[in-house]
Amino acid sequence: MSPEVASSVRAELGEGPSWDAKKEILYWVDIKKGLIYAHRPGNPSDEIVASAQGVSCVVPWSNGGLALTLQHGFYSLDLLSKKLQPISDQVDTKVETSRFNDGKCDPAGRFWAGTMDATEKNPTGSLYLLGKDRKLKKVLSQVTISNGLGWSPDNRAMYYIDTPTRKVRAFDYSLQTGEIYNERTAVDFAVSEQKGDPDGMAVDVEGMIWVAHWGGARLTRWNPSNGNLLETLPVPADQVTSCCFAGRNLDELYITSARDGLDEKTLASKPLAGSLFIARPGVKGLPTHSYVG
Ligand code: CA
Repeated sequence: MSPEVASSVRAELGEGPSWDAKKEILYWVDIKKGLIYAHRPGNPSDEIVASAQGVSCVVPWSNGGLALTLQHGFYSLDLLSKKLQPISDQVDTKVETSRFNDGKCDPAGRFWAGTMDATEKNPTGSLYLLGKDRKLKKVLSQVTISNGLGWSPDNRAMYYIDTPTRKVRAFDYSLQTGEIYNERTAVDFAVSEQKGDPDGMAVDVEGMIWVAHWGGARLTRWNPSNGNLLETLPVPADQVTSCCFAGRNLDELYITSARDGLDEKTLASKPLAGSLFIARPGVKGLPTHSYVG
């Protein structure tokens, strides 16, 4: 089934979706507008949960609230008071163009998120890990646009994307310690001449990975153990930013997109740019994990 529009929102830069299975809400953000949305399946009128300037990704918190990233740090959001509070030290504050970008929690409840250079040119970003003890660790540096993130069904691999490299990297993963080892290339967009650059991603129950194509108007499904392309899912928007499995049976794939970076002419011919889409890919996905802090 080709993707359908799920929400009446048209985001400037839709991103960072996560599925709260308990509440049956898909949270997602508009980075450019600094808004956090709650989408309830079947209802196109998304609720604005909070305005949070610089928000780039959001995940459920096991305490009932949300955990998220703003420009330079990790924050908590209390859903009743709408109060934002820092839960980490501020990072990369000396780099004028630096901001947090995509992030996800591992199955043990640690929050991984990376930063990027807003000019998208310089490798001044890093990948950070916020532990369950709320301690912050820099894990990778020399990153230009930190994206991706996902774990294999057996939790023994972590996937990561630095968008301009056009690669999905894989690492061996220790769920017990949160350490990554043995970096390798899982997917190379250049080798198979893919359109666009890899952005966000999701993992299905068969261990295959779904990658959003920024500038490529599609999602692709890959086998990360041999780098083979398995499927291409066209999306009626050029800037496809991320995806997340959701729904009661985790068989729905929500896809975020952007109007950002498109000229007037393209926007006129692609009126669905910036939409939240839903697809039923025929395979179930892995759940979103909450921050346990
Ligand atoms: Ca992204």
